[in-house]
Amino acid sequence: MSSKNQIHLIIKRQKDASSPPYYEEFNIGYRSNMNIISALMEIQKNPINRKGEATTPVIWESVCLEEVCGACSMVINGKPRQACSSLIDQLEQPIRIEPLSTFPVMRDLAVDRQRMFDALKKVKAWIPIDGTHDLGPGPRMAENTRQWTYELSKCMTCGCCLEACPNVNTQSPFIGPAPIAQVRLFNAHPTGAMHKEERIAEIMGEGGITTCGNSQNCVEVCPKGIPLTTSIAHLNRQVTIHSFKSFFGSF
Ligand code: SF4
Repeated sequence: MSSKNQIHLIIKRQKDASSPPYYEEFNIGYRSNMNIISALMEIQKNPINRKGEATTPVIWESVCLEEVCGACSMVINGKPRQACSSLIDQLEQPIRIEPLSTFPVMRDLAVDRQRMFDALKKVKAWIPIDGTHDLGPGPRMAENTRQWTYELSKCMTCGCCLEACPNVNTQSPFIGPAPIAQVRLFNAHPTGAMHKEERIAEIMGEGGITTCGNSQNCVEVCPKGIPLTTSIAHLNRQVTIHSFKSFFGSF
């Protein structure tokens, strides 16, 4: 039982990628305004578990500490979210912290999100430029388009949407909601649109948009409030148009 001055953490740990997972419990001193990262830092400073035994510091990944980099994603009390924006005062205790299960665990709470970066490469989630010389201001984007594309550009590749999606798992090649939303973003850019058809063709292939089961879990957990299901629906229409064009274009 945790007292008012103590925080009780139950952490799923793993020594390395091939070791079996286990749970270790910790009691740490309470301070106001703590988040999960500051709680983990207390364990790092003084790695003693709840039984009073010396242990190894818990390993995790974090960079910006302001919910922009996407590195500190974890499953906290059953919900995939960012450790930096998870405030202790808002969490029920004991607080259960686990690594994302969608990605291979490297150690403790640190996972390898390479699967997501590979998916972004697959769908060409970038704006092509020809060299590094000054190309001038480029085409202008309509203000209303800029507004909704800005929302999509907030994606930090955190992986929470993949964790929540029942169709993303080791048995499925589904690239997940985030890379699909990025297709919508880059296809809306006046220069990015040059590769529009290639991106659409890519998400029509294996692991693409047809693997989405429309569970809508992704949009519930996205820390940036990205309109993932709206983007998937928009691209479903684009895929249909692309299919018709390819079919009739072949005659
Ligand atoms: Fe994270 Fe949202 Fe991007 Fe998914 S869409 S990776 S939940 S920021």
